[in-house]
Amino acid sequence: MTGRSKTNGQVGTCVVCGKRGYASKQTAKRAMKRLYPGDHQSVYRCGDVYHFGHLPMQVRSGKKSRSDVRESRRGWS
Ligand SMILES: [Zn+2]
Repeated sequence: MTGRSKTNGQVGTCVVCGKRGYASKQTAKRAMKRLYPGDHQSVYRCGDVYHFGHLPMQVRSGKKSRSDVRESRRGWS
């Protein structure tokens, strides 16, 4: 994949958070309006790309990832 498609400015998956990334604020905004018309979300920068969403502060601060804390269940034998 080249990630250079002109269709919607999408640049692929963000290496930082795994979300869909956009090349610029404008393209992110446009995609947001297209995908979620009427929904007010924010466009924010992450690494080299832009995302939109309801600002997941925990994710932004790097405190939490999608997978919860994994307790090691081994060692119970
Ligand atoms: Zn990201």
